[in-house]
Amino acid sequence: MKDVVIIGAGPAGLACAIEAGLRKLDYAVVEKGCLTNSINNFPVDMTFFSTPDLLEIGNAPFASLNFRPSRRETLNYYRTVSERHDLNVNCYEEVVDIKRKDNAFTISVKRLNVLEKSYYAKNIIISTGYFDIPKKLNIKGEESPKVSHYYTEGHQYYKMDVAVLGANNSSVEAALDLYRHGANTTLVHRGNDLGKKVKYWIAPELEKRINDGSINAFFNSELAEIRPNSIVINNNDSGAVEIKNDFLFALVGYMPDTNLLEKCGIRFNPDSLEPEFSEESYESNIKGAYLAGSIIGGRQTGKIFIETGRFHGKKIIEHILKERKQ
Ligand SMILES: Cc1cc2nc3c(=O)[nH]c(=O)nc-3n(C[C@H](O)[C@H](O)[C@H](O)COP(=O)(O)OP(=O)(O)OC[C@H]3O[C@@H](n4cnc5c(N)ncnc54)[C@H](O)[C@@H]3O)c2cc1C
Repeated sequence: MKDVVIIGAGPAGLACAIEAGLRKLDYAVVEKGCLTNSINNFPVDMTFFSTPDLLEIGNAPFASLNFRPSRRETLNYYRTVSERHDLNVNCYEEVVDIKRKDNAFTISVKRLNVLEKSYYAKNIIISTGYFDIPKKLNIKGEESPKVSHYYTEGHQYYKMDVAVLGANNSSVEAALDLYRHGANTTLVHRGNDLGKKVKYWIAPELEKRINDGSINAFFNSELAEIRPNSIVINNNDSGAVEIKNDFLFALVGYMPDTNLLEKCGIRFNPDSLEPEFSEESYESNIKGAYLAGSIIGGRQTGKIFIETGRFHGKKIIEHILKERKQ
Protein backbone atom coordinates (compact mmCIF):
# COMPACT_ATOMS: atom_id res chain seq x y z
CA MET A 1 0.00 0.00 0.00
CA LYS A 2 1.53 3.31 -1.15
CA ASP A 3 1.30 6.46 0.97
CA VAL A 4 0.29 8.33 -2.16
CA VAL A 5 -0.30 7.75 -5.86
CA ILE A 6 0.10 10.81 -8.08
CA ILE A 7 -1.90 10.73 -11.32
CA GLY A 8 -0.24 12.70 -14.13
CA ALA A 9 3.46 13.45 -14.69
CA GLY A 10 3.13 17.09 -15.73
CA PRO A 11 5.07 19.81 -13.88
CA ALA A 12 2.52 19.81 -11.02
CA GLY A 13 2.59 16.02 -10.57
CA LEU A 14 6.39 15.94 -10.72
CA ALA A 15 6.62 18.70 -8.10
CA CYS A 16 4.38 16.58 -5.83
CA ALA A 17 6.59 13.53 -6.44
CA ILE A 18 9.79 15.43 -5.55
CA GLU A 19 8.21 16.62 -2.32
CA ALA A 20 6.90 13.12 -1.46
CA GLY A 21 10.37 11.65 -2.08
CA LEU A 22 12.14 14.28 0.01
CA ARG A 23 9.71 13.62 2.88
CA LYS A 24 10.32 9.85 2.60
CA LEU A 25 6.80 8.89 1.58
CA ASP A 26 6.24 5.72 -0.43
CA TYR A 27 4.74 7.08 -3.67
CA ALA A 28 4.26 6.33 -7.36
CA VAL A 29 3.47 8.62 -10.28
CA VAL A 30 1.22 7.11 -12.93
CA GLU A 31 1.25 8.79 -16.34
CA LYS A 32 -0.85 7.83 -19.35
CA GLY A 33 1.71 9.04 -21.89
CA CYS A 34 5.36 9.99 -21.72
CA LEU A 35 6.93 12.19 -19.04
CA THR A 36 5.41 15.70 -19.28
CA ASN A 37 3.07 14.37 -21.95
CA SER A 38 1.14 17.63 -22.47
CA ILE A 39 4.31 19.63 -23.10
CA ASN A 40 5.55 16.89 -25.39
CA ASN A 41 2.40 17.44 -27.49
CA PHE A 42 2.93 21.21 -27.81
CA PRO A 43 4.09 22.59 -31.18
CA VAL A 44 7.55 21.22 -31.85
CA ASP A 45 9.28 24.61 -32.12
CA MET A 46 7.28 26.52 -29.50
CA THR A 47 8.82 28.85 -26.95
CA PHE A 48 7.40 29.30 -23.43
CA PHE A 49 6.24 32.75 -22.35
CA SER A 50 7.67 32.11 -18.86
CA THR A 51 11.34 32.60 -18.16
CA PRO A 52 13.19 29.40 -17.09
CA ASP A 53 13.31 30.27 -13.36
CA LEU A 54 9.50 30.37 -13.26
CA LEU A 55 9.22 26.81 -14.58
CA GLU A 56 11.61 25.31 -12.02
CA ILE A 57 10.50 22.53 -9.67
CA GLY A 58 12.24 21.07 -6.61
CA ASN A 59 14.64 24.06 -6.48
CA ALA A 60 16.59 22.59 -9.39
CA PRO A 61 18.07 25.40 -11.53
CA PHE A 62 16.81 25.55 -15.12
CA ALA A 63 19.73 26.89 -17.17
CA SER A 64 18.73 27.97 -20.65
CA LEU A 65 20.65 29.83 -23.33
CA ASN A 66 17.46 31.72 -24.11
CA PHE A 67 15.53 34.35 -22.19
CA ARG A 68 12.44 32.16 -22.78
CA PRO A 69 13.08 28.43 -23.00
CA SER A 70 12.04 26.25 -25.91
CA ARG A 71 9.81 23.19 -25.62
CA ARG A 72 12.82 20.95 -26.21
CA GLU A 73 14.87 22.59 -23.42
CA THR A 74 11.89 22.36 -21.08
CA LEU A 75 11.35 18.66 -21.80
CA ASN A 76 15.05 18.12 -21.19
CA TYR A 77 14.87 20.06 -17.90
CA TYR A 78 11.93 18.04 -16.48
CA ARG A 79 13.54 14.77 -17.61
CA THR A 80 16.83 15.69 -15.93
CA VAL A 81 15.10 16.72 -12.70
CA SER A 82 13.13 13.44 -12.67
CA GLU A 83 16.35 11.51 -13.17
CA ARG A 84 18.28 13.41 -10.47
CA HIS A 85 15.50 12.85 -7.92
CA ASP A 86 15.13 9.26 -9.11
CA LEU A 87 11.36 9.81 -9.32
CA ASN A 88 9.17 6.73 -9.40
CA VAL A 89 7.32 7.63 -12.62
CA ASN A 90 5.42 4.92 -14.50
CA CYS A 91 4.82 6.05 -18.08
CA TYR A 92 2.17 4.83 -20.53
CA GLU A 93 -0.06 3.79 -17.63
CA GLU A 94 -3.50 5.38 -17.90
CA VAL A 95 -5.68 5.50 -14.81
CA VAL A 96 -9.11 4.24 -15.87
CA ASP A 97 -10.81 3.76 -12.52
CA ILE A 98 -10.50 4.82 -8.89
CA LYS A 99 -12.42 3.20 -6.05
CA ARG A 100 -12.35 4.23 -2.39
CA LYS A 101 -13.05 1.71 0.35
CA ASP A 102 -12.01 1.53 4.03
CA ASN A 103 -9.98 4.79 3.80
CA ALA A 104 -7.86 3.51 0.89
CA PHE A 105 -7.92 3.89 -2.88
CA THR A 106 -7.69 1.24 -5.59
CA ILE A 107 -6.36 2.79 -8.78
CA SER A 108 -6.83 0.67 -11.92
CA VAL A 109 -4.38 1.23 -14.70
CA LYS A 110 -4.16 0.29 -18.39
CA ARG A 111 -0.53 -0.07 -19.42
CA LEU A 112 -0.07 0.53 -23.15
CA ASN A 113 -3.85 0.06 -23.50
CA VAL A 114 -4.03 -3.30 -21.72
CA LEU A 115 -5.80 -3.47 -18.36
CA GLU A 116 -2.91 -4.70 -16.35
CA LYS A 117 -2.67 -3.75 -12.74
CA SER A 118 -3.92 -1.82 -9.77
CA TYR A 119 -2.17 0.46 -7.32
CA TYR A 120 -3.33 0.70 -3.72
CA ALA A 121 -2.82 3.94 -1.83
CA LYS A 122 -3.83 5.77 1.32
CA ASN A 123 -3.92 9.05 -0.62
CA ILE A 124 -4.17 10.13 -4.23
CA ILE A 125 -3.24 13.35 -6.02
CA ILE A 126 -5.05 14.07 -9.27
CA SER A 127 -2.84 16.30 -11.43
CA THR A 128 -4.18 15.48 -14.89
CA GLY A 129 -4.19 19.03 -16.33
CA TYR A 130 -6.61 20.12 -19.06
CA PHE A 131 -4.92 19.30 -22.37
CA ASP A 132 -6.77 16.07 -23.21
CA ILE A 133 -10.24 17.25 -24.21
CA PRO A 134 -10.45 19.84 -27.01
CA LYS A 135 -13.48 22.13 -27.03
CA LYS A 136 -16.04 21.11 -29.63
CA LEU A 137 -17.20 23.37 -32.47
CA ASN A 138 -20.56 21.58 -32.87
CA ILE A 139 -20.71 22.14 -36.61
CA LYS A 140 -21.19 19.87 -39.62
CA GLY A 141 -17.99 18.16 -40.75
CA GLU A 142 -16.19 18.50 -37.42
CA GLU A 143 -15.34 14.80 -37.31
CA SER A 144 -13.51 14.99 -40.66
CA PRO A 145 -9.94 13.62 -40.49
CA LYS A 146 -8.64 16.93 -41.89
CA VAL A 147 -9.61 18.63 -38.60
CA SER A 148 -7.08 18.70 -35.79
CA HIS A 149 -7.11 20.32 -32.34
CA TYR A 150 -3.34 20.10 -31.87
CA TYR A 151 -0.73 21.85 -33.98
CA THR A 152 2.75 20.33 -34.17
CA GLU A 153 4.73 21.67 -37.14
CA GLY A 154 4.33 23.18 -40.59
CA HIS A 155 6.42 21.30 -43.15
CA GLN A 156 3.71 18.84 -44.22
CA TYR A 157 1.35 21.70 -45.15
CA TYR A 158 3.59 23.29 -47.81
CA LYS A 159 1.43 24.53 -50.72
CA MET A 160 -1.79 23.36 -49.02
CA ASP A 161 -4.85 25.44 -48.10
CA VAL A 162 -4.88 25.50 -44.33
CA ALA A 163 -7.24 27.34 -41.95
CA VAL A 164 -6.66 28.12 -38.29
CA LEU A 165 -9.53 28.92 -35.94
CA GLY A 166 -9.18 31.33 -33.04
CA ALA A 167 -6.89 34.27 -32.28
CA ASN A 168 -5.20 33.27 -29.05
CA ASN A 169 -1.46 32.58 -28.76
CA SER A 170 -1.71 29.01 -30.07
CA SER A 171 -3.70 30.06 -33.17
CA VAL A 172 -1.52 33.06 -33.97
CA GLU A 173 1.69 31.04 -33.61
CA ALA A 174 0.29 28.21 -35.74
CA ALA A 175 -0.82 30.64 -38.48
CA LEU A 176 2.63 32.28 -38.61
CA ASP A 177 4.40 28.92 -38.62
CA LEU A 178 2.17 27.63 -41.45
CA TYR A 179 2.84 30.79 -43.46
CA ARG A 180 6.61 30.37 -42.92
CA HIS A 181 6.37 26.79 -44.20
CA GLY A 182 4.67 27.86 -47.43
CA ALA A 183 1.05 27.00 -46.62
CA ASN A 184 -1.75 29.14 -48.02
CA THR A 185 -2.95 30.21 -44.58
CA THR A 186 -6.29 31.59 -43.42
CA LEU A 187 -7.14 32.72 -39.89
CA VAL A 188 -10.80 32.70 -38.82
CA HIS A 189 -11.84 34.47 -35.63
CA ARG A 190 -15.19 35.44 -34.18
CA GLY A 191 -13.83 38.60 -32.50
CA ASN A 192 -12.98 41.84 -34.27
CA ASP A 193 -9.24 41.73 -33.55
CA LEU A 194 -6.51 39.56 -32.04
CA GLY A 195 -7.02 38.28 -28.50
CA LYS A 196 -5.75 40.66 -25.77
CA LYS A 197 -3.47 38.00 -24.35
CA VAL A 198 -1.53 37.43 -27.58
CA LYS A 199 2.18 37.73 -26.78
CA TYR A 200 3.31 41.29 -27.47
CA TRP A 201 6.27 40.09 -29.54
CA ILE A 202 4.21 38.01 -32.00
CA ALA A 203 1.08 40.16 -32.53
CA PRO A 204 2.87 42.77 -34.72
CA GLU A 205 4.20 40.10 -37.07
CA LEU A 206 0.76 38.61 -37.61
CA GLU A 207 -0.72 42.07 -38.19
CA LYS A 208 1.98 42.76 -40.78
CA ARG A 209 1.31 39.45 -42.58
CA ILE A 210 -2.42 40.11 -42.64
CA ASN A 211 -1.92 43.67 -43.93
CA ASP A 212 0.42 42.60 -46.74
CA GLY A 213 -1.94 39.76 -47.71
CA SER A 214 0.45 36.89 -46.88
CA ILE A 215 -2.11 35.51 -44.40
CA ASN A 216 -5.85 35.73 -45.11
CA ALA A 217 -7.90 36.76 -42.10
CA PHE A 218 -11.62 36.67 -41.42
CA PHE A 219 -12.51 38.59 -38.26
CA ASN A 220 -16.08 38.83 -36.88
CA SER A 221 -16.54 35.42 -38.49
CA GLU A 222 -17.76 31.98 -37.43
CA LEU A 223 -16.97 28.72 -39.12
CA ALA A 224 -20.32 27.38 -40.36
CA GLU A 225 -19.44 24.09 -42.06
CA ILE A 226 -16.45 21.90 -42.88
CA ARG A 227 -16.65 20.27 -46.32
CA PRO A 228 -14.17 17.78 -47.86
CA ASN A 229 -12.36 20.42 -49.99
CA SER A 230 -13.61 23.68 -48.51
CA ILE A 231 -14.95 25.47 -45.44
CA VAL A 232 -17.92 27.81 -45.16
CA ILE A 233 -17.31 30.96 -43.12
CA ASN A 234 -20.10 33.21 -41.89
CA ASN A 235 -19.03 36.83 -41.64
CA ASN A 236 -21.21 39.07 -39.44
CA ASP A 237 -21.34 41.78 -42.13
CA SER A 238 -20.91 40.12 -45.51
CA GLY A 239 -22.59 36.74 -44.87
CA ALA A 240 -21.45 33.27 -45.95
CA VAL A 241 -18.35 32.64 -48.04
CA GLU A 242 -16.88 29.28 -49.11
CA ILE A 243 -13.09 29.00 -49.44
CA LYS A 244 -10.82 26.16 -50.54
CA ASN A 245 -9.48 24.14 -47.63
CA ASP A 246 -7.36 21.01 -47.17
CA PHE A 247 -6.64 21.10 -43.42
CA LEU A 248 -8.17 22.87 -40.44
CA PHE A 249 -6.68 23.57 -37.01
CA ALA A 250 -9.45 24.23 -34.50
CA LEU A 251 -7.30 25.69 -31.73
CA VAL A 252 -10.16 27.07 -29.67
CA GLY A 253 -9.14 25.67 -26.31
CA TYR A 254 -9.32 22.62 -24.08
CA MET A 255 -11.10 21.53 -20.92
CA PRO A 256 -10.19 19.15 -18.11
CA ASP A 257 -11.38 15.55 -18.05
CA THR A 258 -13.73 15.19 -15.08
CA ASN A 259 -14.05 11.43 -15.44
CA LEU A 260 -11.64 10.55 -12.62
CA LEU A 261 -13.16 13.21 -10.34
CA GLU A 262 -16.56 11.59 -10.82
CA LYS A 263 -15.20 8.09 -10.25
CA CYS A 264 -13.90 8.94 -6.80
CA GLY A 265 -16.77 11.25 -5.82
CA ILE A 266 -14.98 14.61 -6.01
CA ARG A 267 -17.59 17.33 -6.41
CA PHE A 268 -17.15 19.97 -9.11
CA ASN A 269 -19.19 22.82 -10.52
CA PRO A 270 -20.99 21.37 -13.59
CA ASP A 271 -20.64 24.64 -15.51
CA SER A 272 -17.15 25.85 -14.65
CA LEU A 273 -15.82 22.30 -13.94
CA GLU A 274 -13.92 23.72 -10.95
CA PRO A 275 -13.50 20.99 -8.33
CA GLU A 276 -14.17 21.52 -4.62
CA PHE A 277 -10.98 21.69 -2.58
CA SER A 278 -9.40 23.39 0.42
CA GLU A 279 -7.14 26.35 -0.43
CA GLU A 280 -4.89 25.39 2.50
CA SER A 281 -4.32 21.71 1.85
CA TYR A 282 -5.61 21.13 -1.73
CA GLU A 283 -7.65 18.23 -0.33
CA SER A 284 -10.96 17.72 -2.12
CA ASN A 285 -14.29 16.90 -0.46
CA ILE A 286 -13.08 13.27 -0.42
CA LYS A 287 -10.67 12.61 2.42
CA GLY A 288 -7.25 11.64 1.11
CA ALA A 289 -7.97 12.76 -2.47
CA TYR A 290 -6.00 15.89 -3.45
CA LEU A 291 -5.85 18.09 -6.55
CA ALA A 292 -2.75 19.75 -8.00
CA GLY A 293 -1.97 21.89 -11.03
CA SER A 294 -4.18 23.25 -13.74
CA ILE A 295 -7.11 20.83 -13.23
CA ILE A 296 -8.06 23.11 -10.34
CA GLY A 297 -9.01 25.93 -12.74
CA GLY A 298 -11.71 23.88 -14.52
CA ARG A 299 -12.67 25.52 -17.81
CA GLN A 300 -10.54 28.55 -16.92
CA THR A 301 -7.42 26.91 -18.25
CA GLY A 302 -5.31 30.05 -17.82
CA LYS A 303 -6.06 30.31 -14.09
CA ILE A 304 -3.37 27.90 -12.89
CA PHE A 305 -0.30 27.33 -15.01
CA ILE A 306 3.17 25.89 -14.44
CA GLU A 307 4.38 29.01 -12.64
CA THR A 308 1.68 28.60 -9.98
CA GLY A 309 0.80 24.88 -10.01
CA ARG A 310 4.38 23.87 -9.19
CA PHE A 311 3.85 25.02 -5.56
CA HIS A 312 0.81 22.83 -4.79
CA GLY A 313 2.88 19.72 -4.02
CA LYS A 314 4.55 21.14 -0.93
CA LYS A 315 1.24 22.00 0.74
CA ILE A 316 -0.31 18.65 -0.18
CA ILE A 317 2.55 16.53 1.12
CA GLU A 318 2.71 18.57 4.34
CA HIS A 319 -1.01 17.93 4.86
CA ILE A 320 -0.65 14.20 4.19
CA LEU A 321 2.15 14.03 6.80
CA LYS A 322 0.13 16.04 9.30
CA GLU A 323 -2.90 13.76 8.89
CA ARG A 324 -0.69 10.69 9.29
CA LYS A 325 0.54 11.90 12.70
CA GLN A 326 -3.01 12.39 14.01
C1 LIG B 1 1.10 26.20 -26.07
C2 LIG B 1 1.13 26.40 -24.58
C3 LIG B 1 2.11 27.19 -24.01
C4 LIG B 1 2.19 27.36 -22.61
N1 LIG B 1 3.16 28.14 -22.07
C5 LIG B 1 3.24 28.28 -20.72
C6 LIG B 1 4.26 29.08 -20.10
O1 LIG B 1 5.06 29.71 -20.78
N2 LIG B 1 4.29 29.16 -18.74
C7 LIG B 1 3.39 28.50 -17.94
O2 LIG B 1 3.48 28.60 -16.70
N3 LIG B 1 2.41 27.75 -18.49
C8 LIG B 1 2.30 27.63 -19.85
N4 LIG B 1 1.31 26.87 -20.40
C9 LIG B 1 0.33 26.20 -19.51
C10 LIG B 1 0.96 24.91 -18.95
O3 LIG B 1 1.49 24.12 -19.96
C11 LIG B 1 -0.04 24.13 -18.11
O4 LIG B 1 -0.64 24.99 -17.18
C12 LIG B 1 0.70 23.00 -17.39
O5 LIG B 1 1.18 22.04 -18.29
C13 LIG B 1 -0.19 22.39 -16.35
O6 LIG B 1 0.58 21.49 -15.62
P1 LIG B 1 -0.13 20.22 -14.93
O7 LIG B 1 0.96 19.40 -14.38
O8 LIG B 1 -1.22 20.70 -14.06
O9 LIG B 1 -0.86 19.49 -16.18
P2 LIG B 1 -0.22 18.83 -17.48
O10 LIG B 1 1.10 19.41 -17.82
O11 LIG B 1 -1.29 18.88 -18.52
O12 LIG B 1 0.03 17.34 -17.04
C14 LIG B 1 -1.04 16.46 -16.82
C15 LIG B 1 -0.56 15.06 -17.10
O13 LIG B 1 -1.57 14.13 -16.70
C16 LIG B 1 -1.57 13.08 -17.64
N5 LIG B 1 -2.88 12.40 -17.56
C17 LIG B 1 -4.10 12.89 -17.93
N6 LIG B 1 -5.06 11.97 -17.68
C18 LIG B 1 -4.44 10.88 -17.14
C19 LIG B 1 -4.90 9.60 -16.69
N7 LIG B 1 -6.20 9.25 -16.73
N8 LIG B 1 -3.99 8.71 -16.22
C20 LIG B 1 -2.66 9.05 -16.15
N9 LIG B 1 -2.18 10.24 -16.57
C21 LIG B 1 -3.06 11.15 -17.05
C22 LIG B 1 -1.33 13.78 -18.97
O14 LIG B 1 -0.88 12.87 -19.96
C23 LIG B 1 -0.28 14.81 -18.57
O15 LIG B 1 1.05 14.34 -18.72
C24 LIG B 1 1.21 26.71 -21.79
C25 LIG B 1 0.22 25.92 -22.37
C26 LIG B 1 0.16 25.76 -23.74
C27 LIG B 1 -0.94 24.90 -24.32
